[in-house]
Amino acid sequence: MSRRMLSMCGRSWSLPIGSRAQGLRGLMNYGLSCCVNALLQSFSATWELVDLLEGWNPVDKESVPLYLRKALLAMQSDQSQPAPHRDFLHCLDRNDIYFYVQQDADEVFLSILNLIQQQMSDKALAQAIQSLYKVTMETYLQCLECKYIETGASFLLSLPMHIRESHDSLEDCIRFFFKRQELRDGDKCYCERCGEKKPSQQGFKLISLPPVLCLHLKRFRNSHGYTRKLHYKVTFPETLNISEILTAEALSERYVQNDSQYSLCAVIVHSGVAMFGHYTAYVRHKNQSWYYANDSSVRQVSWKKVQNTYGGSQREDTAYMLLYRRTPEGKQQECSSG
Ligand SMILES: [Zn+2]
Repeated sequence: MSRRMLSMCGRSWSLPIGSRAQGLRGLMNYGLSCCVNALLQSFSATWELVDLLEGWNPVDKESVPLYLRKALLAMQSDQSQPAPHRDFLHCLDRNDIYFYVQQDADEVFLSILNLIQQQMSDKALAQAIQSLYKVTMETYLQCLECKYIETGASFLLSLPMHIRESHDSLEDCIRFFFKRQELRDGDKCYCERCGEKKPSQQGFKLISLPPVLCLHLKRFRNSHGYTRKLHYKVTFPETLNISEILTAEALSERYVQNDSQYSLCAVIVHSGVAMFGHYTAYVRHKNQSWYYANDSSVRQVSWKKVQNTYGGSQREDTAYMLLYRRTPEGKQQECSSG
């Protein structure tokens, strides 16, 4: 499951104190930490998470949520610290997310959320943190002969987006995720009513959307023991309305038409190829401006610059994870200009 990659981002441990821009702080590359650095920038831009952690009175001594809290609060404070995330990185290392090994950003993102669930003594708060990202869905498997349907419930904290050359937009990827799949021949499934394997169809129906929607563009594909990166172009919008993307077929009967309007707040970017890569992040600040965080360096950029991560060429930096924040209906966040 775990795909560990070598990295080209081996940089000195003694870089100068991270640059700051509008309350955003660069993070030194400490033991090949570019992946965690990029994730920390996205967590820091998720102020719902920062607020929950800030309001927590931890009694825990050694835990991932404790050091995540410490790192995020230090990133927000004015105090200059060369590596406010140092203790967090050491704690991750003790929890099998090691130094000097470049990780897969989506795997580390999910590991951190799981470690919060496991290690946080305040279980109600741990649930509240999970709920920030939780997409709940109904799973279904239907026999194509007798039409018997088996349903279940499931949730994901990041939606895996299968990308193909023919897909050229995130909206298409989302539609494809909720598209029903036919299972025939060797893929036939056991039908309880027929009492044997039958051609079936399966899929997901959306029940509810979270305050922060994480979409993972699956750019790494394994085949024959070799991992390659898919550089295909996938466009994504600055604002997204899920209700406008999905048809009624993709929605569960339990789906509550809540706020389905989202606004992009962070993009985790992967540069390079599968075996030699570097992670950086674009994050949108409360003032609506976009910033680019590349380890120690942080600078303000335009939305056009963020769009340069759509991909399409081998040489380009490509968006790997997209985080959208729900914006109240009728109170859409303004798009940044540029
Ligand atoms: Zn059947």
